[in-house]
Amino acid sequence: MANIEIDKERCKGCCLCLSECPRGNIRMSQLLNSGGHTYAEIIDLSECTACALCCQMCPDLAIQIDASDETPPRPLIRIQETGVSKQPSGDRKQETAIGGQQ
Ligand code: SF4
Ligand code: SF4
Repeated sequence: MANIEIDKERCKGCCLCLSECPRGNIRMSQLLNSGGHTYAEIIDLSECTACALCCQMCPDLAIQIDASDETPPRPLIRIQETGVSKQPSGDRKQETAIGGQQ
């Protein structure tokens, strides 16, 4: 299981991490943080592959992940309209690193 943590007080609710998670494993809270923002939450820790895409995307450095104990992620199969199966590539990871902050 990935050791991932979202600091709800740093989160401003921009939702960028939600769209980045290849497993759709992040949602926005029903509650507000002290700044008045809804904040990101991990839906199921056991489904997180520790890919760190959400961490790279977050402009507020609100997501911390320690993948040191993580086993390699299970393959993610996406069935597209063309019927072609595809796994997220290294290029996509690079794009997000440029768009986000470390
Ligand atoms: S580390 Fe990857 S799988 Fe885990 S919540 Fe973030 S984007 Fe999703
Ligand atoms: S990208 Fe960061 S600031 Fe934006 S919703 Fe996710 S955790 Fe919050």
